[in-house]
Amino acid sequence: MASRIPLVAGNWKMHKTPAEAGTFTRNLLGNLPADLTVNVVVCPPFTAIPAVALKLAGSWICWGAQNMHWDAEGACTGEVSAPMLQALGCRYVILGHSERRVLSGETDGQIRKKVKAALSYGLRPIFCLGEELETRDAGEAEIYCLHQLADGLEGLPWANPETLIIAYEPIWAIGTGRTARPADAVAVMGLLREKIASWHGRGFAEQVRILYGGSVSPESTGSFLKEEQIDGVLVGGASLKLDSFSAIIRTSAEFKKSTEY
Ligand code: PEP
Repeated sequence: MASRIPLVAGNWKMHKTPAEAGTFTRNLLGNLPADLTVNVVVCPPFTAIPAVALKLAGSWICWGAQNMHWDAEGACTGEVSAPMLQALGCRYVILGHSERRVLSGETDGQIRKKVKAALSYGLRPIFCLGEELETRDAGEAEIYCLHQLADGLEGLPWANPETLIIAYEPIWAIGTGRTARPADAVAVMGLLREKIASWHGRGFAEQVRILYGGSVSPESTGSFLKEEQIDGVLVGGASLKLDSFSAIIRTSAEFKKSTEY
């Protein structure tokens, strides 16, 4: 019998200077017992990663980045690569976040190249997908998300189910204070897991962690985590405050999922 340990990822977006990020991280560590059954990753802006790494080195909390380029090096002004993140001790990298898809015009093809590069450097992608409100209202959320999953991941050398995390983040729920209904999130995630099973087998799919993201708060966390399909949360706004982020982590730690494999 295997299990899926809940994962809580904090996406700090364009918030916190190195000094602010370092102080926050130190306080977060001090605020939580080290024996919680939960994996936690904080994803600061690139500029604050070294400050965060300094505080978290040797601790149970991981750190990661919010984006990266697919090439290892080159004439790519303003970009950062997988080996650069690896050298800063990053374990995870958020890829395909809707703000990057929308604000920076990232395409499925580019995200796919990023996922492949991240995996080849031992970084764990947190692969984001999710629909616009019009798509949901048209009754097409599931099919849309399945396409995003396939465009991003089908055929990639993804050998270990633990090395890639999926985050279902309906765009209309991000930063709006409006969450998806857990049942709707479960409906999408169940199909995503089925699709992964069709590529890699059921045992593999049962061990992949699928997160929900979109206006998660301490109050709503339990309603998502209690669902069998939901293995954690990707948190934006509520990860910027010590009290709310700590509460989300503590609640998530109560929901380890057993799998048949
Ligand atoms: C996000 O940006 O990934 C996110 C989920 O943001 P928020 O929690 O603020 O909706």
